[in-house]
Amino acid sequence: QGAFVHTDYENIVKENDLVLVYISKTNIRPVVLHKEGRLNTKYGTFLHSEIIGKQYGSQIGKFLNSNQVNRGKRHNKKNKDEKKEGEVGEENNDEEDEKKFGFIHVLKPTPELWTLSLPHRTQIVYTFDSSYITERLQITSLSNVIEAGTGSGSLSHQFSRTCGKLFTYEFHEVRKQQAELEFQQHGLLYQDYLDGKTDDKNVANIIINHRDVCKDGFLIDQVENINADCVFLDLPAPWEAIPNLNDPRVMNQNKQVRVCCFSPCFEQVDKTIEALELNGWGSIEMVEIQGRNFEGRKRMVKSIDDAIKVLCDQKERRNLGASNYRKYKKVRNELQEKDGINDDEHDLKRLKTNSIPADQKFNPFGKGMRVKEGDEKYEWSNVCKIESEIKSHTSYLTFATKIFNITRQE
Ligand code: SAM
Repeated sequence: QGAFVHTDYENIVKENDLVLVYISKTNIRPVVLHKEGRLNTKYGTFLHSEIIGKQYGSQIGKFLNSNQVNRGKRHNKKNKDEKKEGEVGEENNDEEDEKKFGFIHVLKPTPELWTLSLPHRTQIVYTFDSSYITERLQITSLSNVIEAGTGSGSLSHQFSRTCGKLFTYEFHEVRKQQAELEFQQHGLLYQDYLDGKTDDKNVANIIINHRDVCKDGFLIDQVENINADCVFLDLPAPWEAIPNLNDPRVMNQNKQVRVCCFSPCFEQVDKTIEALELNGWGSIEMVEIQGRNFEGRKRMVKSIDDAIKVLCDQKERRNLGASNYRKYKKVRNELQEKDGINDDEHDLKRLKTNSIPADQKFNPFGKGMRVKEGDEKYEWSNVCKIESEIKSHTSYLTFATKIFNITRQE
């Protein structure tokens, strides 16, 4: 309970807390902690009791057994085999360490992390879009917000943190119940505040309704006047719901109110704009967000001479029948036996032939020799890498504003 409480920040993990366990970038798991509980991960089993009492943000590690190490090796081998033959690597030694020591991080839930870890029941709105939507709708702690449909509750968590009250609508009964249960577990349900189960109405601010907003509109029994300042519609047919916003008990009549409709295809945008215009909405704008993470990295500076030397070396290896590092080692052992020289002498002899100074050599044998990113022996330039994948599901956001009571007193 109270996992998403932002005002009363607890730093120590307690029993019954909902924590988000960060296993990897693509594997973040929500877990409610119990003294007897166990968490199974690719690194093995972590006892909940190992996590309880730690500080949020802690790293909890585990030495891996040989099976897990071998599994990691097989996985790495598969990934490496997908690389081009003889590719010059700048691989990170951390990967090597990770195989022997697996670790998780225990994190305090936030709406952003919840979006990355929640059980998907529908398509969801990702943080790139939700942060932009929140800003464009000018949502503040004084705003009453309408959201339809609730779906998996990803955006509801983001809105709930920022707004006054959130009225969210879902016509799929099971989905509504699942979202309601999550809101309750996260201490966000307004009904729980009314029932005295939680005392922070700034946090417990979600009113979830089982309703078809296209057919039955937005009015609900418990509330006489919703007085909404903003509306977000993530529905297949938002144009059917837009006329229902005209009921004077739904929107704030005395200020400029804002709407945003989230639609994946342009035909839907077209129909939405038509409905908005017909119902007196203005300042209509359509935006598309394409969110990607940027990462600061170091890239090894390689001269053309170095590249030529590496290519010559690869050619030589191929001629020797040693196209990969394993074969190279085999051939090298055979040569060593024949020549009667040891590893270092042999490497030096080869390096001398290639005339790369031994203390500056970078992966002279293609695969197999790892260089840690930023290793001081080499020259590096700072680069920016962009994720290849777009992390928001590409939908169009249509924004509009309206003043219902244009004769209002300023
Ligand atoms: N924005 C949500 C999130 O971030 O998790 C995802 C919303 S999902 C794409 C759309 C939801 O709208 C579905 O769960 C669907 O059942 C619901 N829905 C569709 N038409 C509706 C209607 N007329 N009234 C209420 N809910 C509706």
